[in-house]
Amino acid sequence: MTQSQLPIHRLPLPAKTFQKALTRLDLDSEPSAQRRSTGFPTSTRGVWAPVQPLWTEWPLRVTKAEALELGADVDKGEGVDVEDVLHRWDPVDKEEKGDNGLALGSSAHRLKLEPILLGVSEIARAEVLPLLDVGDAADINATTDRDVSPARAALVDVLSGRKILSSADYGPWATRYCGHQFGQWAGQLGDGRAMSLIETISDAGLTEIQVKGAGRTPFSRSADGLAVLRSGVREYLGCEAVAALGIPTTRSLAILTSPIIVIRENGRELSSLVARTAPTFIRIGHFEAMNPGEAGRRSYQIHFGGGWNNVHEAEADKASPLGGHGNLDGLRDLTLWVKDEIMHSNGSIEDWFLDVVRRNADTVAAWQVYGFMHGVLNTDNISIMGLTIDYGPYAFMDVFDPQHICNHSDPGGLYSYRNQPNRVLFALDSLASSLLPILGYEKLNGAPPPAGWGESASTDDVRKWEEAGLAAIEGWNDIFTKTQEKAERDGWKMRFGFKTYKDDDDRSIVRNFQSMLKACSADFGASLRLLAALEPSRADEDGYIRKFAKRLIAATTADLPPDSVMRAEEDAGAWLRVYAARAAQDSEVEGWKKDAPDGKWEVARTAAMRKVNPRFILRQWVLEEVISTMDSALKDADVPTARRALALVLDIASNPFESYGEREDGSIRDDLDDATADRARLCGLGPRDMLGFQCSCSS
Ligand code: AMP
Ligand code: MG
Repeated sequence: MTQSQLPIHRLPLPAKTFQKALTRLDLDSEPSAQRRSTGFPTSTRGVWAPVQPLWTEWPLRVTKAEALELGADVDKGEGVDVEDVLHRWDPVDKEEKGDNGLALGSSAHRLKLEPILLGVSEIARAEVLPLLDVGDAADINATTDRDVSPARAALVDVLSGRKILSSADYGPWATRYCGHQFGQWAGQLGDGRAMSLIETISDAGLTEIQVKGAGRTPFSRSADGLAVLRSGVREYLGCEAVAALGIPTTRSLAILTSPIIVIRENGRELSSLVARTAPTFIRIGHFEAMNPGEAGRRSYQIHFGGGWNNVHEAEADKASPLGGHGNLDGLRDLTLWVKDEIMHSNGSIEDWFLDVVRRNADTVAAWQVYGFMHGVLNTDNISIMGLTIDYGPYAFMDVFDPQHICNHSDPGGLYSYRNQPNRVLFALDSLASSLLPILGYEKLNGAPPPAGWGESASTDDVRKWEEAGLAAIEGWNDIFTKTQEKAERDGWKMRFGFKTYKDDDDRSIVRNFQSMLKACSADFGASLRLLAALEPSRADEDGYIRKFAKRLIAATTADLPPDSVMRAEEDAGAWLRVYAARAAQDSEVEGWKKDAPDGKWEVARTAAMRKVNPRFILRQWVLEEVISTMDSALKDADVPTARRALALVLDIASNPFESYGEREDGSIRDDLDDATADRARLCGLGPRDMLGFQCSCSS
C-alpha cells in the first residue's frame, strides 16, 4: 500500500457527479418506494433514483419473533407494516464524515448480513482504481478471515451494503433505461439488480463502482434483484478475460457471496454480488428512455409483468412534442453529460455520435476476431462507450461455427456469432433514432440546444430537427461498416502474424481458415495459437506441412471419428500450404527481420504471435468447473477452496498469453510440476460434450 491509497469510503468524488448533472426521479419517501417497480412515462426527464443495497432473501419474510419486535401480535391477527419492516435497513447510525463529504451509515439490522469476500481482481483495481486500498483482500488466499485489515473490512461493508456510503445529497443510485430486446421495443427496463455506489476520480480517469445482485430497485419489475453464484462468477471472470485480450469492457473489482439464498427454476441457489467498474454504465437504452424514437413511437407500450404496483399515469406524454413520447431536456442533459464529462469529446454532438459508432464498431470487430459471443445484444446491453457489458450467457468460440448461438434462450440465432456486427448496427440505429432531434437542432443552429429547449418546442420543430438530424448523420452506417471491417482486418492481420494485409487475405486466409475449421470441427483459438509455431521457411521441406497439419488436427479437435481424421488433415494441409506461402512472402520476411536483429525472423514472428493469440481461453468447461468447485466448497463452508479455485482461473484469464507448459514448437511438455500441469489442463479443450455448450444460465 502506498501512502496515497484510501479505503473505499474515502475515495475522492469528482467535481461534477452523475447525480448533480442528471435529474432525479420522483419517488415516494417511504422505504418501500425503493423496492416497488415503478413505470415512468417516457416524457419523464429523470434518469436515476436513490436506492440502497438490500441484499436479502426475496420475497421478504418476517418471523413471528420479528413481528413481535415490530409491535405486531400476529396471534391476535395483527399485521406487520411493510414500511416498518423495511425501516430496519435505514442507515441511521452514521460514522464520521471523510474528506469526500461521505459518511458510512448502518443499522443493527443491516449489520446482521454476513458477506463473504470470494475474490478481488488486483489487476483491475490497479488499472482503474489505483487510489483504492483494499487492504489484505489484495491477496485473499494468503490471509484469513480473522484480523481483517480495516480497508478490507470497509470494502466488504460498502460493497455488500452492510454499510451505506452517503451524504445529504449523495448516495447509491439505480438508473432508468428502456430498450429493444431481441429486436422488439420492450419499453422500460432499468437497473433491476444493479446499483451504483460511488464514482471516483484518479490518474486512471473517472470510475464508477456498481454492484450487481444487491436486491430490488424501482426497476426490478417482477424479479428479485439478486444474482446466483453462477452468474456472478461468469461475469467476474468474463470481464477480466475480455480485458486481458485488450477488448474494451467493464471491469471486475470483487465478488462476494453470503448466506442469502436465491430461488431459481432449479431450486435454491447460492447468491453472489459482483462489484464492477466502468467510466459509465450508460447504455443505448438510456437514450431510448429519453426519446424512444421512431421504433418506440410506432409500437410503444410498457409491458407490465407481475409486481408493478405503482404505475404512473402516462397522461403527461400526450403533451410532449415528441409525438407523445420522450423528453427533450432529459435527452440534452444525458447527451452533454456523456459527451463532455465522460467521454471528453470536445467537438460537436454529431462528432461524438460518430465516435460512439466507431467505438462500438471497433469493439464488435474485436469480438469477432477473438470469437467472443455476447449472447444478448439487446440495446440495453450496448454501452455508449463501446464497452463489453452485462456478461450473461456469453461464450468464446471453440469448435468454429459462424452460426453458433451461445445463448440457450435465443433459438432463432438473432445474436449468433455472424450476426453480431449487424445487431450492434441495429442498436446504433436505435441510438441514432433517439438522438435525431438534438443532432438536428445542432445542425440547424450551429450549437447544442440551450437548457429548457424542450419546454417551448412544438411538434413541427421536432419534426424539422429530426429531418435535419437525419441529414447530418447520413452515411453513418457506412462509417460503422468500414470501421468494423478495417478493425477486423487489423485484428486478423495481427492474429495470423502478418506484417501486411492484402485484399485476397480476406478470402484465402481468413474465410478459408474458418471454413477449414468448420469442416474439420477444429477449435478456433487453439488453432490460431498453434500457427505461431509454424515455420513458413520450411513449407517446401518434404512432409513438413503434412506433419504440421497432423499436429493441428490432433491438438485442436476432440475425438474425431477415425475416418474423418485423414480428411481433416488433408483439409488443414491444403490451407496451411497457402498460409505458409503467404507468410514466407518477401514483404513478410523483410518486415519481421526488422524486429529480429539476429536475423531469426521466424523466432520474432512466433513471439509476436504468442502475444496476441492467447494460450488460455475462458471456455465453457472451465467456467462450469470453477462454478461447480466453488458451489460444492461453499456448501461445505469451505471458503478457502472456493477462493483458490476462483483466484487460479482469474489469474490465468488475466494473463492468457503465458506459455503454461507450452514449448517453443507449440507442443505441451509432459514433465510439468503439479501447479503448471493444472494450468496447462485449464488451457485444454476440455470434455468433448462441453464444446459448443449453450448456456441457459439462470441469472
Ligand atoms: P439482461 O438480459 O440480464 O441484460 O436483463 C434485462 C433486464 O432485466 C435488465 O433491466 C435487468 O436489470 C433485469 N433483470 C435481470 N435479472 C434480474 C433480477 N434477478 N432482478 C431484477 N431485475 C433483473
Ligand atoms: Mg442487461
